[in-house]
Amino acid sequence: MKHLKAFEDALGNIHSEGRYRVFIDLQRHKGRFPKATARFEDGEREVTIWCSNDYLGMGQDDDVINSMHDAIDSFGAGSGGTRNISGTTRYHVELERELADLHEKEAALLFTSGYVSNDATLSTLGKIMKDLIIYSDQLNHASMIEGIRRSGADYRVFRHNDVDHLRSLLENDDSDRPKVIAFESVYSMDGDFGRMKEICDLADEFNALTYLDEVHAVGMYGQEGAGVAQMLGVADRIDIVEGTLGKAFGVMGGYIASKATVIDAIRSMASGFIFSTSTCPVMAAGALASIQKLRTDEGRKLRAIHQAKAAELKQKFRDAGLPVMDSPSHIVPLLVGDPERCKALSDTLLFDFGIYVQPINYPTVPRGTERLRFTPSPVHDAVMMDELVEAILAVWKQLGLDKAA
Ligand code: PMP
Repeated sequence: MKHLKAFEDALGNIHSEGRYRVFIDLQRHKGRFPKATARFEDGEREVTIWCSNDYLGMGQDDDVINSMHDAIDSFGAGSGGTRNISGTTRYHVELERELADLHEKEAALLFTSGYVSNDATLSTLGKIMKDLIIYSDQLNHASMIEGIRRSGADYRVFRHNDVDHLRSLLENDDSDRPKVIAFESVYSMDGDFGRMKEICDLADEFNALTYLDEVHAVGMYGQEGAGVAQMLGVADRIDIVEGTLGKAFGVMGGYIASKATVIDAIRSMASGFIFSTSTCPVMAAGALASIQKLRTDEGRKLRAIHQAKAAELKQKFRDAGLPVMDSPSHIVPLLVGDPERCKALSDTLLFDFGIYVQPINYPTVPRGTERLRFTPSPVHDAVMMDELVEAILAVWKQLGLDKAA
């Protein structure tokens, strides 16, 4: 092939910066999450997964799986087209209704992933709203950043969760120009909450729309699992909410929910929606079953157990003297502060102890804040936690991290 050198050079750079990614090949076993079998070139080993975003284990839930079996048996595999060209099924329609209802909005729109939802929606806002300015939290996800860049709108980045900085940026701009403030409810690497009420107040004061990514919160927060906005009682102050079906809901896909007119305009103009084959009916069926279940008392119980597990793990880390970062959410980051040792810690946990947790290094997090990010689910038990803490302590010492501070 021609031009291979360019690819080799690009890979060389990634390697030299320590950013080369190796995927662990996992054989999951239905009903045994968080246990799985990891396959390596020289064999297999049983592992406990500590870094899954299937936060509640819904990807293994019997009701979800059964609904997917029913859907595939009756509808077949793929959707057969874009939404406009034969790719809309009863499941798509019902799922969008369910999502709108969950978020107390007039309408919702499905995309093939949360990434596409953010990218397609934000990039289209710039085409709909003339002279738009988008204000974006510094730690917003890559999919939002990409959409904002492609929107053609002017944008300003405010320091993470710094509402004073956001205010000063808003004050600096022409009050007649339309504005959107884009932010997240749970930031995935630090596990902190967005300052939702203050941002909504600023949006009211400066006549801006609010765009909220609830990807790391849907299914897990609020009375019915609609997210942090529901938990805080401010769902009606969020103009466009975006979520994923691939994390707590355990399946795959993404969506936005808003006023019917907004959804209609995005549906009619967003190329990431219009020109792409729609989600498989089986995915929509699974997501529908998952959302419906998580809206009930069963969901409320699962959410309570989930929060308790996260609190328990944080406490165990603290008791063991490990530098758990100050996260108020279900995300449990452990600060390592060095890329090589972070990777070595993760590798040793995997190969010597059967504990799978991916290292989080630059550029995902700032240099010097490299970490392991744990996501305990309702099915991680105390024995697994104790094994985890013991293994970390052993490797921590081995790597000299106990002396690093
Ligand atoms: N938003 C945030 C904050 C995310 O962390 C992610 C994925 N990790 C996405 C959007 C994209 O969602 P999905 O995985 O469904 O594409």
